[in-house]
Amino acid sequence: MTEQKTLAVKKVRNGRGIVALKNFRRGAIVMEVTGRIVSDDVVWGYWDVDERRGANCFRCDDDHYIDPNGKIGAYANHSCNPNAGIVKRGRKLLLKAIVSIVAGDEVTHDYSSLLGADDVWTMRCNCGEANCRKSVRNVARLPAATVRRYRRLGIIPDFIMATRR
Ligand SMILES: [Zn+2]
Repeated sequence: MTEQKTLAVKKVRNGRGIVALKNFRRGAIVMEVTGRIVSDDVVWGYWDVDERRGANCFRCDDDHYIDPNGKIGAYANHSCNPNAGIVKRGRKLLLKAIVSIVAGDEVTHDYSSLLGADDVWTMRCNCGEANCRKSVRNVARLPAATVRRYRRLGIIPDFIMATRR
């Protein structure tokens, strides 16, 4: 597991998060999101028992999620000004650096980039960034300029974009 040498789970602004132990160049793959593939019904079931577990799942197609429970991906936090984003390659979800990341930085992505227009989940945001949207909502609620930028960076998967129509 290379991710254990290059990343660590540490205390960050909001609880625990993924912190880089080395520098990543812009465009570099930081890690693959691994975990159990579960259906949307299973994720819905998490809400009653463990809201955080549901929030930490990564949507990977129209009706499946990767549940990173027990893996490092479970600590991937949201930021409204992220330094990484999720790209879908084949069936894999990869976390890619969208700016250069320096050792010691928390690695974050924008949860909205994986929330389809049909996703009703929302979260209050405390990322502390100047452009904080205060609440994390689905991709249809992202500012148009942000969508354009993320699409250019390849960090809103096609199946998520398709939900906007
Ligand atoms: Zn924010």
